Amino acid sequence: MPISRGLRACASLIVFAFEQGLACASGRVVVAAVARPLPPSSYPALRRALLRWFHAHRRALPWREQPSLYKTVVSEFMLQQTQVKTVLPYFARWQELFPDFMTLAAAPEEAVLKAWEGLGYYSRARNLQKVARALVAAPCAPRTAAQWETLPGIGPYTAAAVASIACGDTAACVDGNVARVFARLTADSTAFASGSELVKHFRPLATAVLDPAAPGDFNEAMMELGATVCLPRTPDCARCPLQKHCAAADPAAAAQLPQLTRPKTEQRSVTRLWCVREDRLLLHRVSASARRLAHLHELPAAADLGLDEAAAQRGALLLRRSRSITRYRIEESVYRLDGDGEHAYKPGESSSATGVALPSAKPNSATGVALHWIPLAELESVTLSGPHRRWVRELLALAG
Ligand code: SF4
Repeated sequence: MPISRGLRACASLIVFAFEQGLACASGRVVVAAVARPLPPSSYPALRRALLRWFHAHRRALPWREQPSLYKTVVSEFMLQQTQVKTVLPYFARWQELFPDFMTLAAAPEEAVLKAWEGLGYYSRARNLQKVARALVAAPCAPRTAAQWETLPGIGPYTAAAVASIACGDTAACVDGNVARVFARLTADSTAFASGSELVKHFRPLATAVLDPAAPGDFNEAMMELGATVCLPRTPDCARCPLQKHCAAADPAAAAQLPQLTRPKTEQRSVTRLWCVREDRLLLHRVSASARRLAHLHELPAAADLGLDEAAAQRGALLLRRSRSITRYRIEESVYRLDGDGEHAYKPGESSSATGVALPSAKPNSATGVALHWIPLAELESVTLSGPHRRWVRELLALAG
């Protein structure tokens, strides 16, 4: 059947749009926004519109009720790389366990890590405790972002957030969410090679636009807008207080910004072992020098037991899971470690309140890896990384 004139015209338009890079995968034509700088004369009106919206629509979050320096610091650490809804139960429990800097500074590290279990990026918990200890020892708390940035685990974003929200310092917070809003406000279609390049590009503009009279509220409002309205794939422009200042201002065009080159995903696979003897589970305790998971327990990887992959995969495959960490796609497979021959690992003598060390002959003497037999009844009291906690519970449930 011959294609109608209208359809033919539409098809030509879509072909043209693809040639010009203006059509999305669905075939829908996206009108590219024209780049337009934010004129300084618009800053006062933009600030007023944003703050009015923020005061009317901000979410009621526990660190915003009866705010304190301590709540601001804890919430900013927890919110690094983590969504608000994930943080909420952790924040509530944290406040019960460690209600102030003094209590946190005096707590055993094991208790701090346990309270953080499942939240990921455990260096945050350790650094938060180091910050608490530094503040308790200091004659007074830092006030400026530059001063906050000298403390452990505090980068430019967290320093600006804490200093502006809790101390009134005029420091602009710029993370991926805030940079996204600025990329759209200016319809800036620069292709950025990384998130840090994107953030660096928009920091001068964010600093210029920041409201010097209310830097904390302004920063929070920008973060709130990025988290609830100017969303990565579905910006809600109709509900946005900045629509009239925005060069993109159309959801389809805005969703294309910022232009960020995604790093190529790399595939990794890890073989892990499930080894239960005499009601004890063999776990690997990550060394103190590890950057991410120091002192946490995990199911041992084949290499932790001095085994090659083929030997480790001789037992039954019990579980296989995939997860993404930064640019890596990691497939983890857990095999039962059969208890025969040279791999008949058995619990040895008690070496701690919760663990029993493997006999020193193998495999840990060769690798220096800390392996512990943890009584099944005590598993909940040791700190596992989030995925390992889920896998252990799953496998124990399967075992009945
Ligand atoms: S108008 Fe749309 S694109 Fe522009 S800042 Fe608001 S939500 Fe984002």
